[in-house]
Formats: sequence, structure tokens, C-alpha cells
Amino acid sequence: MSTEFSQLPLSTVLLDNIKTLGYTQMTPIQEQSLPPILEGRDVIAQAKTGSGKTLAFGLGVLEHLHVKTFRIQALLICPTRELASQVAGELRRMARAMHNVKILELCGGAPMKKQIHSLSHKAHIVVGTPGRLLAHLQRGTLSLEHLHTLVLDEADRMLDMGFYDDIAAIIDYAPTKRQTLLFSATFSSEIHQLAQKFLHHAAEIHVKHEPLDSQITEHFYRVSEASRQKALFALLGHYQKERILIFCNTKVACDTIADTLYESGIDALAMHSDLEQFEREETLILFANGSCNILVATDVAARGLDIDAVDLVLNYELPHDDEVYVHRIGRTGRADRAGVSVSLCRGDESVLETKKPVLWQTLDTLDVSTPYNVPVHMETLFICGGKKEKLRPGDIVGALTADSNISADAIGNITIFDKYTYVALRKHLAPTALELLQKHPIKGRMFRVRQLKI
Ligand code: ADP
Ligand code: MG
Repeated sequence: MSTEFSQLPLSTVLLDNIKTLGYTQMTPIQEQSLPPILEGRDVIAQAKTGSGKTLAFGLGVLEHLHVKTFRIQALLICPTRELASQVAGELRRMARAMHNVKILELCGGAPMKKQIHSLSHKAHIVVGTPGRLLAHLQRGTLSLEHLHTLVLDEADRMLDMGFYDDIAAIIDYAPTKRQTLLFSATFSSEIHQLAQKFLHHAAEIHVKHEPLDSQITEHFYRVSEASRQKALFALLGHYQKERILIFCNTKVACDTIADTLYESGIDALAMHSDLEQFEREETLILFANGSCNILVATDVAARGLDIDAVDLVLNYELPHDDEVYVHRIGRTGRADRAGVSVSLCRGDESVLETKKPVLWQTLDTLDVSTPYNVPVHMETLFICGGKKEKLRPGDIVGALTADSNISADAIGNITIFDKYTYVALRKHLAPTALELLQKHPIKGRMFRVRQLKI
């Protein structure tokens, strides 16, 4: 059983605020990493996505902060701008009861000038992405002279994205006497090397099973090979959920299931490692922005996917090991949402070692009166222009909402790549939006635009 935050040597301001944020029990990664973090030790901590790592290092950073000293005391390096902004947001929430803590975001894609201006006004904490942080250090617009805490968040992703050299160069600017915290969802020899090089006598923490699974209801059904597909349709119809992730063990099964669903009028996308990079990207975007309700994936393809909690995880086949199972179902029921996972098992398969009693269900208890019919709410437009053309979300929202009956809240996710952009819109408005963008310029320029079909 996990323990309460109040047992930690934290200041009352922080403790009280954690309570107002609704947190009482620590998650396992918090429970294990916070004591050494608060002692000032270096820590390398690994726990899966959604396990509450931000709060762990965030509390460490804030507890050690001298608010009266207006100097950069903590630097948090994140792989992407979105993640940096999430972390900065979380930190601001944690610090809201402390007096006047200033947290700056320094990420690529935002104007340098504005950042330099903010830096000149001093801050306590900087959260940023490697390239931009290094640029500021090289220009001398950011000083780490007073730094005492360095955090590497999502270290595995930063290494995957090729940021090792940038990180090493950034750390060169930091004082050698400092606390370094390294957080990662996975653990590899590369991570170990990184830790060896930049951490000293670090406490090493691994959390295997995800902590917040109490909110996930796990159901298991026995099926024969012949009845597996029928069971799938029955489950989809019974649950009628909007965001569904179906896991298969093989690429072939993935394609077969996606095709079978598609043929029976249910839009589903397959995601596996045989797809080209851009196809994977696009598939993920269509699922994440609500243009498709169902994603059928293999474990390899789903690894590292940045998808918000889904409503239902459906294991079309059981994976071969417990760890993978826990990873799969962890995609649903993130901290603040209840999730459901259902697994189809062969008669001779024993169910994995879960912490909770296994709920065996029989298919005849399912309500099969209505086939799956949850409508898709969004549709995606593809614009042949992106960062290279200096397109920003605001430009696209502007172009769509000026002189039209499209309101900003009908526009969903906007994902901008170097050369192209995806925009999600409420389904019924997509044709209007398409016509609009085919006739009117964005930021003074005409772009080719088309509607993406699932
Ligand atoms: P990670 O970085 O490990 O992927 P996050 O730090 O983003 O995970 O946390 C995931 C979610 O869990 C967030 O919504 C956060 O607010 C919530 N959370 C964190 N700690 C707790 C806790 N002790 N109790 C309940 N919810 C928590
Ligand atoms: Mg995180």
C-alpha cells in the first residue's frame, strides 16, 4: 500500500497545496524516489508513462528552491515543446501556494528575442528543449552559475531523438556540484551510460508495475479461435466506447482486424512497424485528434506512442508476458479517468499475474442488441505547408474563422510538421473548411489542402 505525502519532509506550503490538488497517496515512483530526492541525492528513476514522475521531481525542485534568490536554480530538460509546457504547467500548479516562483519555458519554435527578454527579468526555474537551451547558453543569455538541480525528463525519448550531444553540451555549462535527476519511462544501456557520465552515486529506482491501475477494470473472456472475431464485435457493441485501442500480437493480425472492422462499416486504423514513418505519424494523428475511434496496434508500434488515455483497451490476443500486459492496459484509466480493459484468452491460457483478483466474464452476459455505432466527431484536413512556411496554429485558426461560420471551438488539434500540417475539425464543418482554404490564403499564401480519408 502506498504512503501519504504528509510523511515526507516537505514544507507545509507544498504539503497543503498537494492536498488542494487532490493528491493524498503517493504513487510508487513518488514513494521510492522522493526520499532520496529530498535528501539531495542524485536519482535515476524509471517508471512507465502516467505514473506521476513530474510530481516526484517537481516537489524536489520546489522544496530546494530559495525563492528570495532571483537566479536560475533548477533546469529541466524535456524532449519536446509540448512536454516542456506540460511540465512547466504542472510545476506552476505545484508552486501556486508559494510566493512568487517564476518558471520560464525556453523551447524551439518560439521567438528567441522574447525569451531573451523574459530571461533578463530573472527567473527561478527554466524548463526547455535541448536545442534552444543550448542556443541560449552559447549566446550567454542563460546562466547556470547558480544552478543546483538539473532534471532530465523522458531521458529515453531524448536519446531516441538524438539529443545526447546537446544534453552533454548543456551539462558542460552547469556547476559540477549539483543534484541531477534522471527520469525515464524505459531503461536501456544508453540510459545507463548517460547516468554514469552525469550522475554521482545515484539512487537507482525502478517501478515495474504501474501504480494507478486501481482505476482500471480488467475483464477476461475465454474464447476459441473460431469465436475470437465474433467476441470482438460483441465487445465493441457492448461497450460503445469512443477511444479504443486494440492490441494484437502480430502485424498480420493487426491488418486483418482493421480490415475486418472496416468492411463491416467501422472505421479502424492499423498501426505496426511495416508502415512507413509518415504513415505511422498520420495514423497516430488521426486517432489522437478524434478522426478515427479505433486503433489496432502491435506492442512494438504502440511503444512510446504519445496518446492520451483511451476509454477501452481490448487485447484481441493476450501478450506473452506480464510486463507487456501491464503496459497495454496502462493506456486506459490514467490517474483522473476510469478505464476498462478486456482481454480475449484461449482456453488453455493462464492469466497473467495481476495484483487484483481476475474477473472472468462470459460472452453471453454482453449486450449485443446494437452493433458498434459510436460516431466519429472529427475529420482531418491536410495542408501542404508547415514550419518551413512559418505556419503557426494561430494562422490556421485565423484563416478558418475569419469571415466564416466556423468558430474556434470547432477546430481540434493542429499538428504542424516542417512541410505539412494536419488540422482536425468538427466533422460537419470539414467540407466548408476545405472549400474555404482552397479559395483563401493562409498568412497571405495559397496552400494545397485536401481532406484525409481513413
Ligand atoms: P509521467 O511523467 O510518469 O508520465 P505524470 O507526471 O504526467 O506521469 O502524471 C500522470 C498523471 O497522474 C497526472 O495527471 C498527475 O496529475 C497524476 N498524479 C500524479 N501524482 C499523483 C498522485 N499521487 N495521486 C493521484 N494522481 C497523481
Ligand atoms: Mg512525464
